[in-house]
Amino acid sequence: MILGAIEAGGTKFICAVADEQFNVTERITIKTTDPETTMTQVVDFFKQYETDLAGIGIGSFGPIDAKTTSPTYGHITSTPKLKWRNFDFLNFLKGYFDIPMTFTSDVNASAVGEFHSVENQEVESLVYYTVGTGIGGGAVQKGELIGGQGFTEMGHQLIKRHSDDDYEGTCPYHGDCLEGLAAGPAILGRYEIEGKDLAEDHAYWEILAYYLAQCAVNTTQFYTPDKIIFGGGVMKQEHLFPKIREQFKALNQDYMAVGDLECYITGPSLGDDAAVLGCLEMIKAALSDA
Ligand code: ZN
Repeated sequence: MILGAIEAGGTKFICAVADEQFNVTERITIKTTDPETTMTQVVDFFKQYETDLAGIGIGSFGPIDAKTTSPTYGHITSTPKLKWRNFDFLNFLKGYFDIPMTFTSDVNASAVGEFHSVENQEVESLVYYTVGTGIGGGAVQKGELIGGQGFTEMGHQLIKRHSDDDYEGTCPYHGDCLEGLAAGPAILGRYEIEGKDLAEDHAYWEILAYYLAQCAVNTTQFYTPDKIIFGGGVMKQEHLFPKIREQFKALNQDYMAVGDLECYITGPSLGDDAAVLGCLEMIKAALSDA
């Protein structure tokens, strides 16, 4: 039996096949262009494994419709990527492969992947944030995703502005929500360079840490998880983690007991593989439920 996974990101798709123990035997990266071009390559990849392919787990960029009872279940919905707007992802694939599939957001898939990782065996609940071109969050509680069949929009939580920050924010809906102030494009919008080119001692990192620390405080108050993980492109700046922990401590004032902050606020243990592994976990679970 072969399990398939698709991490459908806004800039690239990762397709992978694995055995039942989640050993990935092949993976490819495809550029996200338009649905026809990208999906043709996706189909070609999985066609090679068609005889043994038992199911495909999908984690997609969004917004998506992940409610199984909805008439537009499996669609990418109101995305700013116009070519993908209202794309019927699931039925497109079902047209080529008559096998079970699961469909959730890419960040939910990452949260599930991390939840099942070796490092998090003792963890009963965690919240995973990706901080990249946007900010998304996924929460897992005792193995189940919070948000039921839908998905959450924790990246758009409202936060307090830093007193040294007058940037209007990039979110077309809220302006200065968390994503508007703290995602990658907000660095580009402020300084006209990308985060990876911004000096490590630049004052902005403290501002960003303040925003992500607020996110961690809010998350703690809502979910009291065992762990909060920050992944995604912006978080490749490892120096952010001590700054976030320090500001979390200052904001939390020991109000909520969270234990060792080094373990509580961390980077992903699976690196960039979390979403693919989450997709594999989800399709395997769906197959054994069926
Ligand atoms: Zn927003």
